[in-house]
Amino acid sequence: MSTPEARARIVDSVGQAPKVPRHCLLPACEASFDIVAVFSGVDAANGWRLLSFFGAVYLCPAHAGPCVSGRHLPSWLDRSAAVGMTGIGCACGWKWRPSAPSTMGDHRDEWVAHLADEIAALAAGEGN
Ligand SMILES: [Zn+2]
Ligand SMILES: [Zn+2]
Repeated sequence: MSTPEARARIVDSVGQAPKVPRHCLLPACEASFDIVAVFSGVDAANGWRLLSFFGAVYLCPAHAGPCVSGRHLPSWLDRSAAVGMTGIGCACGWKWRPSAPSTMGDHRDEWVAHLADEIAALAAGEGN
């Protein structure tokens, strides 16, 4: 439990601390929030979502919707495949399998590109 005094000290130290921005997972998105301020309770990460599948990455409120709804969430395919040859899938049925041994970063880039396409398509649909 934190006392009001302890909390005030934390708030003070955060006020002096350098900001530690976390950016939206989508490369074209410039949204970010200060994770130190959020963890210390100074600021709320309103609408930001942690996507723990790729480690700790975040989606901004504008782009978290498809994941929050469960329509688009990453999952591994072929867990028994050779190292680096595991595929990645999405809750919507999208799949990607590497043609050569690949890293987690490759899988993430493919899935993020897929999510960006879906979000763009969604936005275009809303414009009609
Ligand atoms: Zn975003
Ligand atoms: Zn999907």
